[in-house]
Amino acid sequence: MEPIDLRSDTVTRPTPAMRSAMLDAAVGDDVYGEDPTVNALQRRVADDLGFEAALFVPTGTQSNLLALMAHCERGDEYVVGADAHTYKFEGGGAAVLGSIQPQPIPQDVDGSLPLDKVAAAIKPIDPHFARTRVLALENTWHGRVMSLDYIRAAHAFTRERGLGLHLDGARLYNAAIASGVAAREIAKHFDSVSVCLSKGLGAPVGSVLVGNAALIEKARRWRKVTGGGWRQAGLLAAAANYALDHHVARLADDHARAATLAAGLGEIPGVKLLGHYTNMVFVDVPADRLRELDVHLREAGVRISVGYLPTLRLVTHLDIDDEGIARTVDAFRRFFVRS
Ligand SMILES: *Cc1c(COP(=O)(O)O)cnc(C)c1O
Repeated sequence: MEPIDLRSDTVTRPTPAMRSAMLDAAVGDDVYGEDPTVNALQRRVADDLGFEAALFVPTGTQSNLLALMAHCERGDEYVVGADAHTYKFEGGGAAVLGSIQPQPIPQDVDGSLPLDKVAAAIKPIDPHFARTRVLALENTWHGRVMSLDYIRAAHAFTRERGLGLHLDGARLYNAAIASGVAAREIAKHFDSVSVCLSKGLGAPVGSVLVGNAALIEKARRWRKVTGGGWRQAGLLAAAANYALDHHVARLADDHARAATLAAGLGEIPGVKLLGHYTNMVFVDVPADRLRELDVHLREAGVRISVGYLPTLRLVTHLDIDDEGIARTVDAFRRFFVRS
């Protein structure tokens, strides 16, 4: 039997229909701007999110990096959540490759950065300091949807202080589906937005960065410089187009399954459920039992990710069905009831 892989929504594999869309894709050399399928993808994502331009890139990590490099120059600074992907899980790329200093700020429980703390971190214009240029937010953050009120306040704040506003919207469509707010209504408050197509949307590879034409031109140059200029990428863009056509509305199914999984786990004595948000469920397992739980679940055909986060995170996605949820709850029950 196929394992039930709850490690991340990155593990989805292209469906037969998606593969056939890839096979049929018209392609050209994207470094010359001649791949019709890439161009169509970029146009539709820019239009859908209400931006002038878009750039298709291999990963969300590169998309965030290119955005920061487009907003900033060497010696500039970005303000970012201390627990944000862009700061913590991207190898320090902005500093390593962009010579951009991060200014991390501890986040509130919903992932927002208190704006008074951001204000206090903005550096005076003075040769002693890096130049604070951009505020980077993340939505969803550990599955949590950021409130529109906060986003509006962050927008107003950055306009007042002359900062750019970037969104790591790897799971922007999860936020949109969960809150019933169109993705463009969230995105319109930002100067640049990165969305992943390879997470819950189920494309094998790819993210898209949107912004105004000037920002995307800079990002395109930095993509080439960082080795990300790709050629007949239309094969991948076709999968991304297919994902946007068929896999956005169904994110609601992943959210419903996460709720079902949380409810099932919550009934097991000994399982300390911390919460569930969009397609993620968080469980507190004593650190000394995690390895044992991992081994038990593997034998039951369930994969979990141990070691990256202090708590156990279970992620639902395209390749997890109702039966997979039931089998997972059952496997957890056998572990905790037995012991
Ligand atoms: C996955 C993820 C990224 C980076 O995406 P990759 O394609 O894995 O590089 C960025 N931000 C968030 C919030 C993510 O979850």
